[in-house]
Amino acid sequence: MLLNDLYKKIPKIDELLRLDNVKEALDLYPREAILNILRNILSTYRKMIKFGNQLDVSIKTISQTFEYELYKEFRYSIRRVINATGVIIHTNLGRSKICKDGINHMIEVAENYSNLEYNLEEGTRGNRYSHIEEIICKVLGCESAIVVNNNAAAIMLVLDTLCKNTEVIVSRGELVEIGGSFRIPNVMKFSGAILKEVGCTNRTHLFDYENEINDNTSAFLKVHTSNYYIEGFEKKVSIKELSTLKERYNKIIIEDIGSGSIIDLSKYGIKSEESLVQKSLCDGADIVTFSGDKMLGGPQAGIIVGRKHLIDKMKKNHLLRALRVDKFILASLESTFRCYLDEKFAVKNIPTLRMITYKFEFLKKNALKLFNKLNGIDGFNIEVGEGFSIIGGGSMPKEKIKTYVLMVKHKFMSAYEVEKRLRYNIIPIIVRVEDGFVKLDVRTIEEFEFDEIYNAFVKLRC
Ligand SMILES: *Cc1c(COP(=O)(O)O)cnc(C)c1O
Repeated sequence: MLLNDLYKKIPKIDELLRLDNVKEALDLYPREAILNILRNILSTYRKMIKFGNQLDVSIKTISQTFEYELYKEFRYSIRRVINATGVIIHTNLGRSKICKDGINHMIEVAENYSNLEYNLEEGTRGNRYSHIEEIICKVLGCESAIVVNNNAAAIMLVLDTLCKNTEVIVSRGELVEIGGSFRIPNVMKFSGAILKEVGCTNRTHLFDYENEINDNTSAFLKVHTSNYYIEGFEKKVSIKELSTLKERYNKIIIEDIGSGSIIDLSKYGIKSEESLVQKSLCDGADIVTFSGDKMLGGPQAGIIVGRKHLIDKMKKNHLLRALRVDKFILASLESTFRCYLDEKFAVKNIPTLRMITYKFEFLKKNALKLFNKLNGIDGFNIEVGEGFSIIGGGSMPKEKIKTYVLMVKHKFMSAYEVEKRLRYNIIPIIVRVEDGFVKLDVRTIEEFEFDEIYNAFVKLRC
């Protein structure tokens, strides 16, 4: 077709404004923004024709282009994705999903005024932390609790309050970097505590700690090595062993336990080396800190539990004001902890725990369901196979849980191309590429997401 003829075929703006989807968009968004999108589309088409491209300039195609451009213009930056990776606490994908009660509670608090800092009994100013302390103490059986922005902030607050200008003894095997530039030695420097390293990377003994104690020692700090493990000739000192020194020398024990498991998942077939928060307190830790959005399965938060006289000091620390959590966190965290009053309820209703403890048979059933939905879409070759999910979030690096995956191949596209196209889907679908396959792990996919996956696959059919 001649250049001029093709130009003439390009629809006029007025024509486009009569399209149903354009009319709908005009009801939702500013007219000028919609006109801009249409003008840009038409000018791009003109340019491409000028460069010799034979384009389909039918009104239907342009309407589809408009749909996509409109979506790109008005989509949120942070938005939902489908996690098909099988990594349950996926740090890049938002770590834990929040339980339904937590979401409803957050909405109620967001939509209305609340008693965030108001004491309803007395009619006076209240304390935002009081909402959460009681339920945490009830679940964990601890004396006192406080919540800040994240676990990194929790350690900052603990060290700043209890250890400033004094020596804190840490095993060389526990000077960890967690990722996102969280490094124990740096956090200690920020807080003004003086780091005293003892022992060796692979082995630290009780006498290593004991030899380093002096009058300026305030605490022993234990850090859970969440994201790596040392195998072979290794030795760590347990909280129980450390607590013998604590009594003799009158020092405190602080533990950054990282993930914050409070249910023993071994009875669900999950071999876990994570120690429980309750056990750490029982064994003699005075202060334990952990994240709200890892194994606990709640919102991002740093939870500090332990001795009342120590936490009372933290409550008076001015730094707390800079680390404080907002009302949505308080609401969703309260709901999350409330689930733990009944262990069975927690495992069923907290998404992170539910996904970790899915029965193998259930996963098989779901994998077949998804397989039946996707199988037969032109261009794909799909098989169901066994695979491994991981917990993620620096929790249990050794633990791989058996799962079912869909192993997908496309007739023309490489696995990486399919991965990219799925990532570019309106609701992005994040998958693993392994052994030349695109793999979808049903453990982290909800059944209501199957339709969206189907739609995305249909777009890639040939
Ligand atoms: C994850 C982790 C942290 C950091 O927690 P955030 O809540 O991400 O700030 C600190 N210490 C340990 C041992 C961890 O596993």
